[in-house]
Amino acid sequence: MRAILFDLDGVIYLGDTAVPGAQEALRWVHDQGIPHRFVTNTTSRPRTQVGDKLRAMGIAVEDRLILTPPVVACEWLRRQGARSLALFTAPATRAEFAGFKALPEDQEEGADAVVLGDMGEAWDFHALNRAFRLLMAEPHPHLVALGMTRYWRAEDGLRLDTGPFVAALKEASGATPVVLGKPAAPFFEAALAMLGTSPAETLMIGDDIRGDVHGAQAAGLKGALVRTGKFRPEDLRLGALPDGVLSSIADLPKWWEATQGG
Ligand SMILES: [Mg+2]
Repeated sequence: MRAILFDLDGVIYLGDTAVPGAQEALRWVHDQGIPHRFVTNTTSRPRTQVGDKLRAMGIAVEDRLILTPPVVACEWLRRQGARSLALFTAPATRAEFAGFKALPEDQEEGADAVVLGDMGEAWDFHALNRAFRLLMAEPHPHLVALGMTRYWRAEDGLRLDTGPFVAALKEASGATPVVLGKPAAPFFEAALAMLGTSPAETLMIGDDIRGDVHGAQAAGLKGALVRTGKFRPEDLRLGALPDGVLSSIADLPKWWEATQGG
């Protein structure tokens, strides 16, 4: 192993508090010159805000090291040669795609990709049907999903997230979505392209056995689980075992050196 992808929530911080020892562990990673990126499924805020949150906790990080679904989607879309995008995302997310041409709101053909995110209450028949018409136009655009989360808990109760809208448009159009969020392989592949390493030499560290560890392993990476965040002991009985289990991110230096030496 020579590079690391870090999940953020549950690994580096819990809520607004850094996991004890996270600052020291990340300083060690930096001092060792280990190539790394932070990968999160967060689409509700841009990478600059994620960076600000880390810096407020005393973790020195450059924004370019933080990979969110929109950031990874941009990399993927560039590699496909996509230029004009139809964006079905929250307004704050649209800014992340500034390097592309955004299709005018009334246009129903001519997109190189239809990008779906959490648009909340802005989803209605008109928006869904426009996305459908764009997908049916020739030549067919890519269908890009910024995650497949089915729902989330808001203050007023459960709310639909991105997944159900992607599923509806897949059903209607027959298009196969490319999912650019964990645990989908294209997300890890694009993240590795930005990191410049191969899957076999890259370790993913997360607190989610499915989203982080199994997702990474399915894409050919190594996956290590931390016993913080959403970790539960049952996780170690759910299919494939992690390549490593750490009490917390604070144990990384010790674990890395033992693994590399052995
Ligand atoms: Mg997590």
